[in-house]
Amino acid sequence: YAKRKGGNQYQYFSPDMTAIALRRHNLERHLRKAVGRGELAMHYQPLFDIALGQYSGMEALMRWDNPELGEVRPEEFIPLAEDTGLIVSIGEWSLRQSCRQAATWVSQGMTLARLAVNVSAMQVLHKGFAQLVSSILAETGLDPRLLELELTESAIISDEGTVLAVLLSLKQMGVQLAIDDFGIGYSSLGRLKRFPIDRLKIDKSFVGDIGQDSGNGGIANAVIALAEGMGMKVTAEGVETDGQLDYLKNRRCHEVQGFLLSRPLTALQIEAFFRQWA
Ligand code: C2E
Ligand code: MG
Ligand code: MG
Ligand code: MG
Repeated sequence: YAKRKGGNQYQYFSPDMTAIALRRHNLERHLRKAVGRGELAMHYQPLFDIALGQYSGMEALMRWDNPELGEVRPEEFIPLAEDTGLIVSIGEWSLRQSCRQAATWVSQGMTLARLAVNVSAMQVLHKGFAQLVSSILAETGLDPRLLELELTESAIISDEGTVLAVLLSLKQMGVQLAIDDFGIGYSSLGRLKRFPIDRLKIDKSFVGDIGQDSGNGGIANAVIALAEGMGMKVTAEGVETDGQLDYLKNRRCHEVQGFLLSRPLTALQIEAFFRQWA
């Protein structure tokens, strides 16, 4: 614990806390230079339309490989980037890189139905976000209707008024909006209704429940019904088994994503994937 006395600060860390603090410090130090050093890459996970039995787009997912730290998982470096504000620059890199790649694929004649990119609350709240998206679209030449931005529930309710204004200008450009990891946040349905959302993504923990005693798909089913009722599309993430896929198909879930169908792929692997489907 930390104790403050007469302006002097004494800190006492347990060995565990020290290890965690050192790791974070080290990660932050390297993350600050990651963009400039070309250590970040985007991978792309295909999405599949269940009714059509065809791929329907892809989600861009950031990867970080550092010479000293090795591959650091997004679950570790994204929250750190959010805590330190680094997500603003790293997120901009992610958005630009994915849009550029997608535009290149389109110009090569590949059918790219949709590119989904994750954005954190801090990015959306950062001044000029809608303008940034607009200039990235203009500079890369990507059709705005192909871009979908994924925000979490907490991003949406963090500063409702500001976020709503940004989302409305994104919608005006033709960009699609999705709520990611839906069901684990605490946004009320009444609030949600006010936002121009096109899609709900069922959090993978609820997809994992399907076929288990605990939960048994009840929440996934409820989210599908909710999306239907609100005129939104619905995607299930984290689909790993045939049983889960069957369940989602029977419940008329529109789209699925998961290791059962495809892992996230490198840009090169995506090109092979496209050739296979063409
Ligand atoms: P997310 O947006 O919910 O992305 C889905 C995550 O589920 C990805 O983890 C993906 O690899 C993983 N996944 C997909 N299918 C399966 C499956 O069948 N089973 C399991 N167990 N996992 C599956 P990943 O790539 O580690 O990314 C973690 C999170 O980091 C993302 O969750 C997203 O919130 C964040 N993130 C990733 N890239 C970016 C980015 O470019 N910008 C921002 N702001 N956040 C990002
Ligand atoms: Mg996502
Ligand atoms: Mg998700
Ligand atoms: Mg998730």
